[in-house]
Amino acid sequence: MANLGDDIRYVKGIGEQRAKALRKLGVNTLRDLICYFPRTYEDRSRTTPISALEPGQPACVKALVANEPVLARVRRGMELVKLRIADDSGSLDVTFFNQSYVRQQLKKGQSYVFYGRLTVDGFHRSMINPLFEPEDAPPTVTGRIVPIYRLTAGLSQRVLISAIKHNLDECGDDLPNALPDPVEECYELCQPTFAYKNIHFPADFGALELARRRLIFEELFVLSCALTRMKRSRVRRSGVIVSTPDMDEFYSSLPFVATGAQKSAIGDAVHDMASGTSMNRLVQGDVGSGKTLVAAACIWCTFKGGLQSAFMAPTEILVNQHFQTFTELLAPLGVRVAKLTGSMTAKQKREILSSLKGGEISLIVGTHALISDNVEFNDLALVITDEQHRFGVNQRSALMDKSKNPHTLVMSATPIPRTLALMIYGDLDVSIIDELPPGRQKVDTYAVGEEMRKRIYNFMRKQVSEGRQVFVVCPAIDENEEQPQGIKTANQYSKELSEKVFPELRVACIHGNMKSPDKDRTMEAFVAGSIDILVSTTVVEVGVDVPNASLMVVENAERFGLSQLHQLRGRVGRGRHKSYCVLFSDTKGDDALARLKIMEKENDGFKISEEDLRLRGPGDFFGARQHGLPEMHIADLCTDVRILKDAQDAARELIDDDPDIKKAENAPLKARIDELFDISENTLN
Ligand code: ADP
Ligand code: MG
Repeated sequence: MANLGDDIRYVKGIGEQRAKALRKLGVNTLRDLICYFPRTYEDRSRTTPISALEPGQPACVKALVANEPVLARVRRGMELVKLRIADDSGSLDVTFFNQSYVRQQLKKGQSYVFYGRLTVDGFHRSMINPLFEPEDAPPTVTGRIVPIYRLTAGLSQRVLISAIKHNLDECGDDLPNALPDPVEECYELCQPTFAYKNIHFPADFGALELARRRLIFEELFVLSCALTRMKRSRVRRSGVIVSTPDMDEFYSSLPFVATGAQKSAIGDAVHDMASGTSMNRLVQGDVGSGKTLVAAACIWCTFKGGLQSAFMAPTEILVNQHFQTFTELLAPLGVRVAKLTGSMTAKQKREILSSLKGGEISLIVGTHALISDNVEFNDLALVITDEQHRFGVNQRSALMDKSKNPHTLVMSATPIPRTLALMIYGDLDVSIIDELPPGRQKVDTYAVGEEMRKRIYNFMRKQVSEGRQVFVVCPAIDENEEQPQGIKTANQYSKELSEKVFPELRVACIHGNMKSPDKDRTMEAFVAGSIDILVSTTVVEVGVDVPNASLMVVENAERFGLSQLHQLRGRVGRGRHKSYCVLFSDTKGDDALARLKIMEKENDGFKISEEDLRLRGPGDFFGARQHGLPEMHIADLCTDVRILKDAQDAARELIDDDPDIKKAENAPLKARIDELFDISENTLN
């Protein structure tokens, strides 16, 4: 009796060599084999009369073998089997190369289904190396919808098909099944036997759809149960109560009217802080949606409660900018704002640290310098991290350790589809700002090739002559052996631009290897308008605000992810001026071009990240599986959203009823979750 946990090597029809190949595909056990789902399917369910065959088109033919197959040796090592087949409509030559064993299988006078392509050579019509099966045998590779599996060296479709078929039969009803019966019934999902049979060997497309729905549901349900349980078991730590002041005082002090989406996110957050348990909230919004205001509102409430806040940003440039923004927004309301960065003098730091400890400072804005041991607070109640994907989980918690259960607010710059956000940030509550402040103009975007370079240079000149400024972003800092040919590097390219192309303009360069004070000086000069063209690496990707910049040029754009390009593009169009984004790429790859074309038509960061996710998968999206989600076998987190919603509902209901998944009827579910999460439990943040 076969067991789902059996090593693939000992599974019938596999053996040592094939087991090796299968392991490369991640198939290690019988269960893996049964869950190795087809990449796609080919509809071979219709047969075509011989006379109606079209050259080059794959088709099935039901025909009699008209003569004894003949074996011929054409040259050394090459054997031919030739025969003629016939149906009511005509006849056809069939040739097999190097498959002399077919002589034993094909019997004169018997009927078979052949699957292959018609080859026409002058008047000679033939089929070469077709697949075939006896007409009266149960169809596997002909006469039906046939699965197509992803292969690797040492495996063939036929081997996989027959191994899976045989072992499915062998397993009988003993198939992977993590769904409790009531869930299966309630959501009208088919049974595992039906699902596994039809996902591999669909009786028809309707059956395939039913099978897919069940298996996707099951996968998402298991994941949702795990995440829901994790979220609920998060110790609801008590948090200091920051009672909500009259928010009108804050709103009426602003230089603009907060958007509805900003107000609703602020509402979520202040509610959390007043609740008595500590806030753990993620604010997500497209570039320029005004996330900073949510932070400012929370800081203000904290200040009103007589408590301190810390705001951590990934770069000094951003710290400076946020320091300025918060000073503008909050100083008039009486909040004392300070900053702490690595480049400050020891004396400056000492002073700041002492007034921080003394409680005179209500908001400290800083880089990860905030984490260091000598930073002490009087009464830290709120920790905000910006662009959280730049910080490790550990850094975040190190800052939180500076106080008892401070409220935490995380601002994410990468908009991701809501469903995905809910899964990835399973332990965070999520507020989404899905509305831009009024009056934002679309940034016109062009994906162009090298042939446009001259024209773009002229366009850059024109923008500058109109008083605007230009960003140029390169994928690397310096030329070196590791850089592939043709990559524009910030140091060399800025030199070329300033010496050869725009000698009359002020060109400067900024990148991550520069010392912080140098970076700051350059950035400040750009903000002040004394630099026309700023060549950089992606240090400008996040946050930096230069309202006078109207053109973003990205070199070797194919080397950036879509979400990253969207972030870069978000650096322009922040002022009154019509803005543009030019994506240079000379790539010939279709995929890369298709990706860049998406940028031309799409402006919504959430939609772009969905595309990015679809094209690159969640693994790449967040860097080496940083998100800690187990790999999805069949579900696609973007396109299977409807099923995901059902699965999440079902999961919530189940966890309501059985919070620790301890009931006997849920044992298979529990086992599956343990299996999936045994390595990733700690990486999920
Ligand atoms: P992001 O979400 O990218 O961090 P910011 O908070 O930096 O966005 O805001 C982008 C710009 O929009 C800033 O210049 C900010 O002053 C401005 N802004 C924010 N909210 C509003 C609003 N409700 N109305 C007008 N301008 C706003
Ligand atoms: Mg921001």
